[in-house]
Amino acid sequence: MMAPSMRSARLALSAWRRIPGPPRDLVRARLLRLYRDLLRRFGPQGWWPGRTPFEIAVGAILTQHTAWSQAARAVAALRARGRLSARALAAAPEAVIAEAIRPAGTYRLKARRLRDFTAWLLARFGGRFEGMRRAALGPLRRELLAVPGLGPETVDAILLYAAGRPVFVADTYARRVLARHRLLAPGADYEAAREFVQTHLPSDPALFNEFHAVLVAVGKTYCRAVPRCAACPLRRDLRGRAPRL
Ligand code: SF4
Repeated sequence: MMAPSMRSARLALSAWRRIPGPPRDLVRARLLRLYRDLLRRFGPQGWWPGRTPFEIAVGAILTQHTAWSQAARAVAALRARGRLSARALAAAPEAVIAEAIRPAGTYRLKARRLRDFTAWLLARFGGRFEGMRRAALGPLRRELLAVPGLGPETVDAILLYAAGRPVFVADTYARRVLARHRLLAPGADYEAAREFVQTHLPSDPALFNEFHAVLVAVGKTYCRAVPRCAACPLRRDLRGRAPRL
């Protein structure tokens, strides 16, 4: 029997297919086919792990240039010290935060980033995420990008996974797969890739959430520096051509 989360993902996929889009948007059809094949292979990924939106945002900052397993240890250490709320984190001396998040690497820098983000969240939304869910998305994204140490990938992960906003996280894994399948121009940058996906797919946070997660899964499993196309669930999309490397 199909798991409930897989069933709801499939139902959502058939609903997206029915949403009217540009006539004969072949790119959209192809992206949804890639998504369907990845979902079938990997199943829903349950991203982003975190008990609260603030914890998810903290994780997004801590995992910069670090494996998630290390970032998760740092998140757990903050939780154990009772620092996983905006007010509790803002009240902690920076050295205390740095010591707690040591497993995440570059811990002094990340402690500063956590404090800068938290100060912004407190000043702008009283430390809560409800306001981030309602604010106009474009200006909100620009505000977050102005917080020191937050690049587009971190900002979009916070917007999508912590605030439930419809932005696609066009990270290295996603760009690599889409470029190898000739959907993106060679060397397309983060913004170009994000715009591309958002232009062609329905503006749905659940879709962007799961699509990003399964692209990471295929990137780690098959679409590595040397691609393993023969065993990959996306090989049919190449239609017998070699991936563009
Ligand atoms: S491994 Fe090959 S088939 Fe799979 S996503 Fe990468 S390029 Fe595509």
